[in-house]
Amino acid sequence: MRVTKEIISSALKEVFIENTKINIVDAGIVKNIQIFDLDIDLDFEITNPTLQYRKKIEESCVQAIKKISNGLKPKINFIVKKTESPQKIRGKQIPGVKNIIAISSAKGGVGKSTVSSNIAVSLASIGYKVGLIDADIYGPSMHIMFDLQGEIPTKINVNGVAKIKPLENYGVKLLSLGFFAESQQAVVWRGPMASKALNQLLWDTHWGELDYLIVDLPPGTGDIHLSLVQSIPVTGVLVVSTPQDIALSDTKKGVNMFKLKSIDVPILGIVENMSYFTPKELPDKKYYIFGKDGVKKVAEYMGIEMLAEFPILESVREASDIGRPVVLQEKTPIAQEFLELTRKLVKIIKKRNVNLPATKIVETDSSGTPACSSK
Ligand code: ADP
Repeated sequence: MRVTKEIISSALKEVFIENTKINIVDAGIVKNIQIFDLDIDLDFEITNPTLQYRKKIEESCVQAIKKISNGLKPKINFIVKKTESPQKIRGKQIPGVKNIIAISSAKGGVGKSTVSSNIAVSLASIGYKVGLIDADIYGPSMHIMFDLQGEIPTKINVNGVAKIKPLENYGVKLLSLGFFAESQQAVVWRGPMASKALNQLLWDTHWGELDYLIVDLPPGTGDIHLSLVQSIPVTGVLVVSTPQDIALSDTKKGVNMFKLKSIDVPILGIVENMSYFTPKELPDKKYYIFGKDGVKKVAEYMGIEMLAEFPILESVREASDIGRPVVLQEKTPIAQEFLELTRKLVKIIKKRNVNLPATKIVETDSSGTPACSSK
């Protein structure tokens, strides 16, 4: 059998970048393949210069090529590509992306991802160009909510640079950490690692023109959030909470974090989810399982607008589980409520963009602490 570049390339497609489902060919690492009889000379362009990383790739590639024929002698020449420092990257806007909305909650399981997915699909149904990033390192779920489980984003070449191509469903371009890392791996990530991964999803991706990019943040108010908010010029943040006391005290903390003078990201509003439950057989009854008016009171106290309250509905949970956000069940009251929330958000953002300057990237000192103290 005559060994060709195509044969070598398809063998190298079996070698994946650690902790991801992207192979080294699609990732643009393999720059050149030269075949001289049994000698296979390979040029690889990498950004991680460590010996350990190079050794790992080398071993996997040698194994993959020897599978074609044991007599082949692969030789890899590593070229280390210089990357821009994160500091420099932070100074940039994402080309083509007009608005970035971060969706945040102080607690997990309150419906942040449900709200994010339904807003994204609503925006697309109104006619906007929409992208969505699932940055929830503790439990990425968007790939399930958009019925894209098991799919793997590919890379495309944009002006000679390899970029990630987002997957797409219901008119929304989507990238989820769930496409690249198992949630068990993601959960051990620390702030800087998570923000590096988010940076890649933001800047190493071919988003094209977007009116809105929604970022579904991980729940909580810790270091990770700070480092994520530092990475992106957010237009504003939408907070999601249930009316439960325990969620509310954390929600106040979360709102205060965004209001820190040194962070100063505009709060677009707050959404109460799981407000009440109405059994089918008692359509006039409302059971306030997690308490009544909790979010409304916090909103008043903190001077932010409460934009919607969503009941607990089986259809919302089912829609998430089958991967078809409930807003697609047109003409149902819940779909109308999500559309109404989305229209309100669009109005608030338009007003915000007229009245306020673009949000600056958070400046930090060398230890990663925001430069100023709280208000
Ligand atoms: P978070 O992103 O805050 O962790 P999710 O959006 O993943 O929360 O929601 C947690 C669970 O609750 C999911 O199974 C989701 O389908 C369900 N859920 C969210 N909102 C509602 C609702 N209003 N009614 C019924 N189930 C809901």
